[in-house]
Amino acid sequence: MLCKIDYQAPKDLLQDRIIMVTGASDGIGRAAAKAYAAHGATVILVGRSIKKLEEVYDEIENAGGAQPAIFPMNFETATYKDYGEMAELLEKEFGHLDGILHNAGILGSITPVDAYNPQVWEQVMQVNFTSALLMTQSLLSLLQNSKDASLLFTSSSVGRKGRAFWGAYSVSKFATEGLVEILADEQENLSHVRVNSINPGATRTGMRQLAFPGENPSTLRTPEDIMPTYLYLMGPASKEQNGQKFDAQPPRVEVLDAAQ
Ligand code: NDP
Repeated sequence: MLCKIDYQAPKDLLQDRIIMVTGASDGIGRAAAKAYAAHGATVILVGRSIKKLEEVYDEIENAGGAQPAIFPMNFETATYKDYGEMAELLEKEFGHLDGILHNAGILGSITPVDAYNPQVWEQVMQVNFTSALLMTQSLLSLLQNSKDASLLFTSSSVGRKGRAFWGAYSVSKFATEGLVEILADEQENLSHVRVNSINPGATRTGMRQLAFPGENPSTLRTPEDIMPTYLYLMGPASKEQNGQKFDAQPPRVEVLDAAQ
């Protein structure tokens, strides 16, 4: 298992780096955006709720971080053209990107495959997988303009081993893992872009509560607790890692049969 929970990031790890985080308005994405900013990055906050993104913006500025950028986007409805326009704007403003954390996601329903609502299935695939694919297609050249860039996709334990009832969510994460392998192989000798996946593991967020309503949240690590691996993978220390599957925390022994 590749896990860097004990990694201690230097304060200036991401100084002068431009890093995009999707789903930056809540949960793990919010913590990652703040952690990257606290380590020197200029963060591009992407998400659908402007109000929540503005809160994160204020938190970053109040903590003394570089002024972030906000890019509202709903991954359910955004089109390839929207991502193209996003790329044009970012090209004008920054000229390059040093990292993207594809993190936005939805759970869908916990249902057997034969009973799964096809519309919900499509919605989960769109938000969790297709949007990240289309955005990557549009932004790859900006990453290639960096001296070393990290393209990081969010997976799950059910994206590495299938589990009953996890339906579209699980399939969307398998697709993500496949895309990581393909992109990593394509970029290997072509660019300084590394492509990896990260499984946060069971983490105290709204999505986790939705999946396990009976669970006591205080037994779970918080998004802030799991940031060391997120920092490691965004900083230059992970330059040689490509096509790897990381875990942000060791598996919890007492809940080995629960999805993380
Ligand atoms: P949360 O539900 O707390 O946060 C999800 C984020 O994605 C929010 O910022 C949300 O925005 C955003 N988002 C959802 N739908 C859209 C959309 N249509 N357009 C734009 N943004 C959207 O989830 P977590 O922080 O728990 O999950 C983050 C990632 O980690 C996900 O990919 C998840 O699959 C993965 N993961 C989480 C685990 C856990 O235990 N928490 C375990 C394994 C994997 P808004 O604020 O507007 O809702």
